[in-house]
Amino acid sequence: MGIRFDAVTVAYDGNVVLDALDLTVAPGEVMALLGPSGSGKTTALRAVAGFVRPASGRVFLGDRDVTDLPPHRRGIGMVVQSYALFPHLRVEDNVAFGLKARKVPKAEIRTRVAEALEMTGMAAYARRHPRELSGGQQQRVAIARALAIRPDVLLLDEPLSALDAQLRSGMLAELARLHRELPEVSILYVTHDQVEALTLADRIAVMDKARLQACGTPRELYRAPADAFTASFVGNANLLPVTVGSAGVSFADAEIAVDTAGAVPGARATLCVRPHLVGIGAGPNRLTGTVAEVQWRGATHRLYVDVAGHRVMADVRELREPPAHGDPVTVHFAPEDAVLLTAGVGGHG
Ligand code: ADP
Ligand code: MG
Repeated sequence: MGIRFDAVTVAYDGNVVLDALDLTVAPGEVMALLGPSGSGKTTALRAVAGFVRPASGRVFLGDRDVTDLPPHRRGIGMVVQSYALFPHLRVEDNVAFGLKARKVPKAEIRTRVAEALEMTGMAAYARRHPRELSGGQQQRVAIARALAIRPDVLLLDEPLSALDAQLRSGMLAELARLHRELPEVSILYVTHDQVEALTLADRIAVMDKARLQACGTPRELYRAPADAFTASFVGNANLLPVTVGSAGVSFADAEIAVDTAGAVPGARATLCVRPHLVGIGAGPNRLTGTVAEVQWRGATHRLYVDVAGHRVMADVRELREPPAHGDPVTVHFAPEDAVLLTAGVGGHG
């Protein structure tokens, strides 16, 4: 079932923390809400769940306006970062909790608990208490509990942020599998982690300072971000301050060829180039500078290059003889690999 925010505004003590959010999640779609801490992501989720009341605007599930419905009547499963399991209840009773509250018949509860534990790979742990489980297992129980009510909509608030990196990538794959098994369930997935958003989401809504900054498929936002904030939050980005010319832009004392369609000659703009699209040595759009830092990352080297007082990052395949700090270096990138951003110049440079 789809989710729709219609100009949803939330304020605490007169402080607007969610500013007229318009956003539609299609039935069966995974939408990531991606943004820094404090940008209003959790608030948006809580407005859907019914734990916070909008100051204005409406929330729809399918074509039903649920703005005035209490949380338990919205058909929503929610998983929060801290898991929020009941420590004194066994796993099976934690998972059954929402069903008992909804007065589901006993036999039906047994079936659904077994099904939810099966889906999350926790069937063997039904009789344990949360303290007898690892963090990852507790998270699975929290997900099982959300699934047991057979929700139309699943809300996940930074569900993996308490897990270590290895577990996290495993759980990401698990969530993708769950999504395939529940193709009708819409998922709103809050995260500040771009990898999670890029991996899991059909679309990403980028939040900044209580506002929706951009919304699109991961590919759209990564390949053609509309503004500097989105460029730097969805993937790594070199953001170079440039001046628009007639057939390209100028940066420091270099002329750079790039598509300038829609930009006004003479205007200041930001050029976005992904670090992995920057190569070492001569080529088109060449910049010369000095090596400020070299990081070995196993399969790649990251070079930080100072070009006329600006830092340019280049991620290149592991170099057999990496340059040293202070060495002169030339880097380049293809004209089609640079995106000219004319929105939001100045704020994030
Ligand atoms: P995010 O999930 O993106 O980190 P939140 O939605 O939790 O952000 O918070 C957005 C803003 O609202 C923050 O500035 C936060 O301090 C504030 N906020 C959240 N909940 C409350 C509350 N119950 N009372 C007052 N302020 C709150
Ligand atoms: Mg949050």
